[in-house]
This record gives sequence, structure tokens and C-alpha cells, in this order.
Amino acid sequence: MTKPVASLPLAAALPLAFLALWACALTGTAAAASCPGNPNALGTERVLAVDVATTPRVGRKQFPTTLPLADKELVLTFDDGPWPTTTPKVLDALKAECVKATFFLVGRNTEAHPALARREHAEGHTIGHHTYSHPLLDHLSMEKAEADINRGIQRDDLAVYGKARTEPVTPFFRFPGFASSPALLDRMRDRGLVVFGADVWASDWNPMTPDAELQLLLGRIEHVGRGIVLLHDTKAQTAHMVPALLRALKARGYHIVHVVPADSRPVVN
Ligand SMILES: [Zn+2]
Repeated sequence: MTKPVASLPLAAALPLAFLALWACALTGTAAAASCPGNPNALGTERVLAVDVATTPRVGRKQFPTTLPLADKELVLTFDDGPWPTTTPKVLDALKAECVKATFFLVGRNTEAHPALARREHAEGHTIGHHTYSHPLLDHLSMEKAEADINRGIQRDDLAVYGKARTEPVTPFFRFPGFASSPALLDRMRDRGLVVFGADVWASDWNPMTPDAELQLLLGRIEHVGRGIVLLHDTKAQTAHMVPALLRALKARGYHIVHVVPADSRPVVN
């Protein structure tokens, strides 16, 4: 950027410099906003609008591409909740650090604990979908698979926005167990749903101490350097680990990116 600007007359260079600043602001590269009561908070560095046309499938564990993230940028995602004994602890930890995450909800849990799903939304997190009953969808017929996907979306949106519908407000979806099929992936894309895989996970489906989980995850994050992090807010070991994880990420110079839909559908229609 410096070289072409320096070679231009000042009158031409100034608008270019202004444009560069403006572009930075648009892409959200400004420093994280201050966090009330916590001057050393990790914070949320920027918001990234995710569009099914550009990135229909993201996460290198499953797909060839991931989100357009810079080095040391992470997107935090939590699956399988909401769950009454663990999700509030995760939400408290995120709030204390002013970190925005994405929750991929299981509809039967949302149905049982709607106030927790509403809290996630009210505190600024993104609400994604993860079926109704968490089946391995590649083991089902297309009809049964899509029925469980739709039932989950309806329960999630009814709890969060007060209206049950098949086309969700936030068109983000993650397959349980990453058990997709080519036909289901095409169907999700045709419906305008972005399918989230992951770039790194804590293997928190395996029992381990919170500290062991923290060390495992930090090592894996250092290895990949950037990407979508998968955790489960239903796991007690993860809920205990999240506060230390956020402090460690801050200390190691990582930045949190909050994903939102580029084409959020209106809540009332
Ligand atoms: Zn799951």
C-alpha cells in the first residue's frame, strides 16, 4: 500500500489513504471495543458476515476450505446445547471477556430449555442449528434427515424469536458427528444454509480434566494457527475450562471473530 501512495501527488494520495481507512473499518479490523469491568478482556475483534454463495461449506476438518480468517483469528463455536448445568457457565465466561460465539443448538434441548437459548441470543451470540434429535443424518433417508433438520430449526427459532419456521433466521447448520452426504450438502446449499465444519476441536467428547483439555486444545490451536474451534457447552469439563481458555488465548495474541449471516432473514413475516 505504501509504495503506490508515496508515488502519487499529495492530493491524490490523501483520498486513497482515507479509502484504506474506510475499508479497514468496513472489514472490521479495528481494535476490539472496550469491555465493561474488564480492561484486559480478550474481546471480539471483528464481525465476519458469512454468505452461502461465497462459502457454502467451511472447516478444513471436513471440507477443502474454511472462513477467510487471518493468522491468529479464531471463531468459537459450541454444539449440542442448551444445557442447564453447563451452558450458563459458558455464557458467563464469554460475557466476562466480551467474546461473541456461535451456538449450534439441538432442538430437543432448546425445547426443554428455551430461556437459555433466548439468553444466548440476547447476549449477542449467533444461533445456529444442529438438528432436533442429533441423529447421524447420513444413516437416514433424505426425507427423514430433512424432517429432523427442519424440526430442530423450528424449535430453535420458536424459542429464540417466538416463531417456528423451516427457513431459519440464521441459516447456519452443523451436521451431528459431521455425518453429511453429498446429496444433503447440496440440499443445504440450495436452501441457502451455510454448513459449518471445524478446523480444530478439543475432543471434549472424551472424558478428561479441564486442564488436560485446555492443554490439548491450545496445542492444536497453535498447530493450525487460525480457524473454527469446536467445543460442546453440554460438557462440564469444557464449561470449567472456558474461562482459562479465553485468558490463554488473550495471552498468546489470538483474536476472536464473530460470524453472522450475510442474509439474515427477517424475524417477522
Ligand atoms: Zn453434536
